[in-house]
Amino acid sequence: MRDHGSNAPVLPPEIARRRTFAIISHPDAGKTTLTEKLLLFGGAIQMAGQVRAKGEARRTRSDFMKLEQERGISVSASAMSFEYGKNWFNLVDTPGHEDFSEDTYRTLTAVDAAIMVIDGAKGVESQTKKLFEVCRLRDLPILTFCNKMDRESRDTFEIIDEIQESLALDVAPASWPIGMGRDFLGAYDLIHDRLELMDRADRNKRGQSIALDGLDDPRIEAHVPTELLGKLREEVEMARELLPAFDKQSFLEGHMTPIWFGSAINSFGVKELMDGIAENAPAPQPRLTASRQVGAEEKRVTGFVFKVQANMDPKHRDRVAFVRLCSGHFMRGMKLHHVRAGKPMAVSNPVLFLASEREIAEDAWAGDIIGIPNHGQLRIGDALTEGEDLRFSGIPSFAPELLQAVRAGDPMKAKHLDKALTQFAEEGAAKLFKPAIGSGWIVGVVGSLQFDVLASRIEIEYGLPVRFEQTQFTSARWISGPQDKIDAFVKANRGHMATDHDGDPVYMTRLQWDIDRVERDWPELRLSATKETH
Ligand code: GDP
Repeated sequence: MRDHGSNAPVLPPEIARRRTFAIISHPDAGKTTLTEKLLLFGGAIQMAGQVRAKGEARRTRSDFMKLEQERGISVSASAMSFEYGKNWFNLVDTPGHEDFSEDTYRTLTAVDAAIMVIDGAKGVESQTKKLFEVCRLRDLPILTFCNKMDRESRDTFEIIDEIQESLALDVAPASWPIGMGRDFLGAYDLIHDRLELMDRADRNKRGQSIALDGLDDPRIEAHVPTELLGKLREEVEMARELLPAFDKQSFLEGHMTPIWFGSAINSFGVKELMDGIAENAPAPQPRLTASRQVGAEEKRVTGFVFKVQANMDPKHRDRVAFVRLCSGHFMRGMKLHHVRAGKPMAVSNPVLFLASEREIAEDAWAGDIIGIPNHGQLRIGDALTEGEDLRFSGIPSFAPELLQAVRAGDPMKAKHLDKALTQFAEEGAAKLFKPAIGSGWIVGVVGSLQFDVLASRIEIEYGLPVRFEQTQFTSARWISGPQDKIDAFVKANRGHMATDHDGDPVYMTRLQWDIDRVERDWPELRLSATKETH
């Protein structure tokens, strides 16, 4: 699938230096803290703590954000870009809560690598595993950061074993921890033969880094007490015997992960991880479309929308479509071809998400994420090109697993409800179905928490209290097949039919038996649980 071999195309230097990645983790493993430190060492923020402080300032403006805070979840994904040495990093944030896995899935279509953060005391947790499976579907290369080594953690071999066993992934240690918990000293960098010491006095500073001629270099003795040094030498020897050495090709193919041991809060191991991304994570990779593969080196600009976010600024009812540029050199003011609409679109005020503030982008390259403010013209999955009718593959829309009817608390305001629901459907926050019989809407989501978030957002953003109620349906399936058969089917099953917000027919039921029966009685039709967005 992926071609990382010697016949891979030569990328222009601006594209070759880009690294576009996401962080995946179980809640509480330290993703936010690590993000702050990446930005700190990327020079994007002056002092760690700003990501959160900024978040809090925003929260005071919007009660919706309070919900995020109360539940300890982050609902909205954003992108941040910054320079690191010779490289340009695009960090795409993924929502952490499992109810938002669909959003996460789409976010992962926009990156070329992922950092997996695990808590050294907890190992591979449920959400880590789920997110990892999504990465595996795309063979995404993964770098692992084992965090919180300043606390009592598990034995190093045990952690590595667990990753190998539970994720079926080869693990190559890039560093080896020295001591643990209160005795944690730092780590030995196995790739560059350096001793990295943790600075306990200043959490935002890197500790000392000492180049050595291997573990037998006597200079190490000045820094590591005899007992810990003996254990380190023994463990590293064992690790070199038992564990595979880092193999870049296997990493790029998604079969092997390098692991660093660190402590994000103490800024320890972060720089090594960033160097690992710069040295090993791939430059912008080709993307598949229905007709052909698009290479990042191609001169003409292409990109696709992987996320739409509304009301980023509560003062303006704007929406921002997040676009992953797949090829070319984008310049502000360019007229791009909006493939689905079949129309040109002038992109005059694209936003580049620099870590501190949103900024107007004058130009951007393949691999970058730009935000395009719009009034609803751009939807998830849309392609932008310089004229070619491309459709990017693999941006799915999942069948919701929970369906509920929604009612406006004030029936006079039903129109506002229509508008609010349409917006959220276009944002990808929920599926919206209009039943063929009766009035009102049915809303479908993947996890029940999404109903709370929707109710809260509709109330805050539209001033409209709403109620969600049970319906007689529990499953929704999209229908495809010859048009005359679809028409006949819709006519015969009106009580079960609805249309989604694109106007496509959807069959709703509460029984698997119904679905089986339809498949038997209507062999020309296909019922499916996912719909590729276009
Ligand atoms: P997220 O939910 O994955 O974004 O995790 P956070 O970054 O919010 O971290 C969860 C908790 O773990 C917070 O209280 C952090 O201060 C703490 N934490 C993060 N990194 C470390 C670390 O290296 N050592 C210790 N002891 N605590 C940490």
